[in-house]
Amino acid sequence: MGRADFRTSPAKAKMREPLALSLLNDFLYCNRRAALKIVEGWRSANQHTARGDIVHEHADLRGYEVVQGVKILRALPVFSDRLGLNGKCDIVEQRPDQSLFPVEFKVGKRRQWENDDAQLCAQALCLEEMFHTAIPRGAVFHADSKRRREIEFTPALRALTEKTIGDLHVLLDSTAIPRAEFREACEECSLYDICLPRVTSQPALLHHAAERLFET
Ligand code: SF4
Repeated sequence: MGRADFRTSPAKAKMREPLALSLLNDFLYCNRRAALKIVEGWRSANQHTARGDIVHEHADLRGYEVVQGVKILRALPVFSDRLGLNGKCDIVEQRPDQSLFPVEFKVGKRRQWENDDAQLCAQALCLEEMFHTAIPRGAVFHADSKRRREIEFTPALRALTEKTIGDLHVLLDSTAIPRAEFREACEECSLYDICLPRVTSQPALLHHAAERLFET
């Protein structure tokens, strides 16, 4: 996945400007994608992001309802001072025993993606810090198949999530943009036309293209 090795302790994230929680998903998809958003502020839409927006439309309406004794909180703002993170949970279910269960909406069919799992785990870490409670599980709701995939927040997933948050803070501090690595996932990336991975992944091609810019 072209992931760079940006090592830091999440504890160092303390007192830093909070990162948007959704950037975890970008970073695990491609660290260059996260850098283009964080460092250069690029945002761009394609059919996948547009579908994502539609899927999130209902979950983005802040509020709550009670269904069969379960309080369903929508678009709940969350944060972690310890990790330097903020964002929102699409859905948090508060069950009759007062336990909390976050649910993230995603486009596509039911399947496992490490980046979705880490994003949901980061939401759980925020909720644990905010409400001083343990959250052992959550779920990703896949819009196309209308099915939930339950995720256990194992020590391994928690470690991956905290490391990714630390790496993101280092990326933000360094302001470096990692080089592109062209791969299949690039075809679905909304930043494809900004990144130009076929050119920027090959220094010789990039050099040639840069020279031609100034040809008359
Ligand atoms: S086009 Fe590929 S290399 Fe470029 S940001 Fe997107 S996923 Fe990363």
